Amino acid sequence: MTNGERLMASASIELLTIGTELLLGFTVDTNSAEIGQLLAASGVQLVRRTAVADREVEIREAVSQALQRTGALITTGGLGPTRDDITKKVVADLFGVPLEFHEPIWQGLVERFARLGRNLAATNRCQAEVPRGAVVLPNRWGTAPGLWLEAPLRAEHEGAPRLAILLPGVPREMRGLMAHEVIPRLAQWTGSTATVIRSALLRTTGVPESRLAERVGDIERELAPLSLAFLPSLSGVDLRLTAWDLPAAEAERRLGEGVAALRERVGEFTYAEGDTDLAAVVLQGARAAGLHLAVAESCTGGLLGARITAIPGSSDVFAGGVIAYDNAVKIRELGVPAELIESNGAVSEPVVRAMAEGAARRFGVEASLAVTGIAGPGGGSPSKPVGTVWYGLRLSGRTEAVSYVFPGEREEVRARAAQGALFLLLGRLREGSR
Ligand code: AMP
Ligand code: MG
Repeated sequence: MTNGERLMASASIELLTIGTELLLGFTVDTNSAEIGQLLAASGVQLVRRTAVADREVEIREAVSQALQRTGALITTGGLGPTRDDITKKVVADLFGVPLEFHEPIWQGLVERFARLGRNLAATNRCQAEVPRGAVVLPNRWGTAPGLWLEAPLRAEHEGAPRLAILLPGVPREMRGLMAHEVIPRLAQWTGSTATVIRSALLRTTGVPESRLAERVGDIERELAPLSLAFLPSLSGVDLRLTAWDLPAAEAERRLGEGVAALRERVGEFTYAEGDTDLAAVVLQGARAAGLHLAVAESCTGGLLGARITAIPGSSDVFAGGVIAYDNAVKIRELGVPAELIESNGAVSEPVVRAMAEGAARRFGVEASLAVTGIAGPGGGSPSKPVGTVWYGLRLSGRTEAVSYVFPGEREEVRARAAQGALFLLLGRLREGSR
């Protein structure tokens, strides 16, 4: 069985996110990403995602198509008390059921508003209306309850029942309802086949996607039925293995074996599993080696220090750093000789070495990392194109320097330069611990 066929084996559902702000791009559709992850973890296959504005025609068409095509749909948004909140009305109409006033919801609203010392507006009354036959999913995080409606569509008369799950758009409320109401009910709805869709992530850096693919070879055939995805980003290429529609224990076992096999092929370019940041791995290695670390940053302007200090507990390893952007600062704060800069330029091997040594001296540490480069868009030359980055690493009394040319625009070069610095140090820490 191919993965394509496997996709269809589990229970299928669609997602419709409703809100004009999503299409205008002012609100990022985080609900879709979160719901995708939650459904996968519970073994329900999300087969399609759609977004529409708060317009009746579009909502009607999208809901109706999804229910006829896939038979089950989750919506978020459009459940509030204002005029643009029309999801409930449209869905009730498609199922051919009336909206009915629901006393317990109304009482809940009255109590909630009294507690907050606010007046209930007349427009809130519509929030207590429920399509006939719908199960009310209590919302402890806000005012609009979720709704679970399972019935034949009006257009299909005595046809098969379709499932519509309506959730509020506010992410916190959606999240609460998914965890406490929707996921448990979906388990029953799918007949609890006890299969899951589960993923494992192996993180790599310092290697282009194409070369990584060569190393990995056709491992996918060996690992079937797991699927393998290459996910490039500024931090490197993540390899995601996914087990589709397998019993939880088998999925875990296969993913464990799969990650081990991948690790072996990828070799020194892997640095972590899961969502662990490279900075955390480097800190761990430095801690184990009893090292203290300082940085001297030119083109990264503090990104490297920010990456390191974002990790809780970094202070036992990380001393601090100098953002030596201006040459005068390189000279004054790091003791880089002015002649070195004059004769070699600020982006050069002698200067980056002097920066690393200056930082180690200044902070009294055994390890220091220095970065100087040309982030662009200006400042490049034929011999030092935009993207050229020199690293200096001072470790246990020795200084080394290496250079790379990173692709991309300013922000990409800066992000890649910070990641590359961390990876350089990790490589040496690994050699030291062997
Ligand atoms: P609504 O339930 O349509 O009244 O949405 C309330 C608020 O939730 C909106 O103003 C957005 O800020 C937020 N929101 C709605 N849909 C989404 C979504 N798909 N992802 C993230 N936030 C959303
Ligand atoms: Mg809305």
